[in-house]
Amino acid sequence: MGLLVVGSIALDSVITPFGETADTLGGAAVFFSMAGAVLHDKVQVVGVVGSDFPEAHLKTLAARGVDLAGVERQEGESFRWKARYSYDLASRETLETRLGVFAEFRPRIPEKFRSAKHVFLANIDPELQLNVLDQVENPALVACDTMNYWIQLKRDVLLQLLRNIDILMVNDSEARELSGDWNIYRAARWILSRGPKMAVIKQGEHGALLVNHETVFKVPAYPLQEVFDPTGAGDAFAGGFMAHLARSDDLSLPNVRRAMVYGSAMGSLAVEKFGVQRLEECTLQEVNARVKAFRDLVHFSLDGEEQ
Ligand code: AMP
Repeated sequence: MGLLVVGSIALDSVITPFGETADTLGGAAVFFSMAGAVLHDKVQVVGVVGSDFPEAHLKTLAARGVDLAGVERQEGESFRWKARYSYDLASRETLETRLGVFAEFRPRIPEKFRSAKHVFLANIDPELQLNVLDQVENPALVACDTMNYWIQLKRDVLLQLLRNIDILMVNDSEARELSGDWNIYRAARWILSRGPKMAVIKQGEHGALLVNHETVFKVPAYPLQEVFDPTGAGDAFAGGFMAHLARSDDLSLPNVRRAMVYGSAMGSLAVEKFGVQRLEECTLQEVNARVKAFRDLVHFSLDGEEQ
């Protein structure tokens, strides 16, 4: 069961209170697939890199088992993104975004990826996200991310996209901005009224919410003592979430709840080191141990019940 992701492949430069990096492997599609590939062996990436993109970075993805048949190399500069985090890592300022070859990115889904059953449209122009949907054959589940920029600039196209996807996966400020409602639960319901069957709202250090027409499910963030670099946590979350659904081929609500925990586990692992370092070395056993730790974290018994 193929899991297809379309999105940015970047050279990231990040400044945190604990150090800084320059031109390291990053991008939404990269964090997604490095996390997803820990759980599932058929992660397929579509994206673009420039002529300056180090071959070693592509080897890092390949070594994790990611299928790179959809990665185009084009003449010109790779997409570059630079950001600085605040002392408590809770906020960040984007210092520079250089689109390079990403500006002209027109996703072309290779023939062998078109039958992917699970599709994740990472944060790109919603017109391109719609165009990807025209190229895939009959996906069982389509999830999609976006950002404030597109909410402001291409709201109508985004609303059209919402009618064609199953899950919108955004952070809380994006959900608020899109719906025009400060209350996150009402914002989620607003999203559902526009088409998606589910909304997944990422809340950073406060965890993540899954909202469908019947229920709300909340996963906390893992209580980490050390966080080095929050970059890509949301995309790693999406990778873990989607990879669990793809490998289990089960869209029942209990399994989607489980996927939320796999997503949170991957997000929490991603931030333990700079860039994708932690996702490079992480084993399935470590992920499973963290998933179990999540269960222990929230488990409790009612008065009179056995533990
Ligand atoms: P996150 O921390 O989940 O917001 O994701 C950060 C990743 O998104 C970084 O690796 C960036 O390279 C990538 N990124 C930043 N800005 C954009 C953008 N405008 N379009 C696509 N990807 C981006």
